[in-house]
Amino acid sequence: MDKERREILKRIEKLVDPYRITKGKGFRLKDFDPGDTGGFGSDQKPMARDLLEKGIQWLAEEQGKLYAQDRRSLLLLFQAMDAAGKDGTIGHVMSGVNPQGCQVFSFQQPSMEELDHDFLWRCLKRLPERGRIGIFNRSYYEEVLVVRVHPELLGRQKLPPGHVTKGIWKERLADIAGFERYLVRQGTTVLKFFLHISRKEQKRRFLQRLEQPEKNWKFSPADVGERRYWDDYMAAYEDAIRRTASREAPWYVVPADNKWYTRLVVASAIVEALWKLDLASPGIDAARGKEITAARRSLMREKR
Ligand code: ATP
Ligand code: MG
Repeated sequence: MDKERREILKRIEKLVDPYRITKGKGFRLKDFDPGDTGGFGSDQKPMARDLLEKGIQWLAEEQGKLYAQDRRSLLLLFQAMDAAGKDGTIGHVMSGVNPQGCQVFSFQQPSMEELDHDFLWRCLKRLPERGRIGIFNRSYYEEVLVVRVHPELLGRQKLPPGHVTKGIWKERLADIAGFERYLVRQGTTVLKFFLHISRKEQKRRFLQRLEQPEKNWKFSPADVGERRYWDDYMAAYEDAIRRTASREAPWYVVPADNKWYTRLVVASAIVEALWKLDLASPGIDAARGKEITAARRSLMREKR
């Protein structure tokens, strides 16, 4: 890594560090402010935008190397309350990346077929191949979030009697942590983002969806109903982060009341992780070099 890049990496680390959770013990959601902008005042927005644009460009470069090497993969997982900006963040941050090397999957309520399997099954099928970036818009974490807040959903999961005990959430979280450790050992980098919006800002965005006809399509009455369970969701998120945050598969609790800042933190975290992998530019070995020279000669010799 050259000197300039090391300098920038230092700045990025400083920006991202406060939001990265690598150890669950003692984690409390209330220590994190959804309105935080990391000391960037609104007058510094242009600077932040600039950095974001660069970040998006670097991300595209790194993705090219990841693809060429075809060894590692990157799994980016997004969880959030409604209207926290998952879709917009994913679209924006990944805008420069070659669509061939990147796939987004959204996980909604499980289908009958999915309910006929263990809860990881549908996500397993969509894990990124080597060389690729996989993005999960919601994920297996729904199993310890929405299902925990509405335990009646467990009834549809066709679990054998005796398997639904009081310890089920703890067990599921331990299984998730184990599964992520396995992925990391297999060469997948796992980054988990919780876009942390405040209840107040969610209300403001819902009202906007109702007031602006062009945003009406995004509105769903059920989403407003879920606000009643806000505290239960926050408790479920907190416990999930506590039990699954690790050095290998960190959580990022990203302030989500200001979209421009959310995007900056997410892009920075991804660039940081990729730079730390220190992917070599696609090089060629001596044997391959000879082949290339020979092929070139043979083409040049052709008469037509
Ligand atoms: P949008 O931003 O478009 O609203 P979304 O991610 O909210 O996107 P929806 O189709 O509105 O997508 O909602 C998906 C719903 O499916 C969410 O309410 C989520 O909690 C629910 N869901 C996802 N996974 C599960 C699961 N395993 N069990 C039960 N419900 C789930
Ligand atoms: Mg929704």
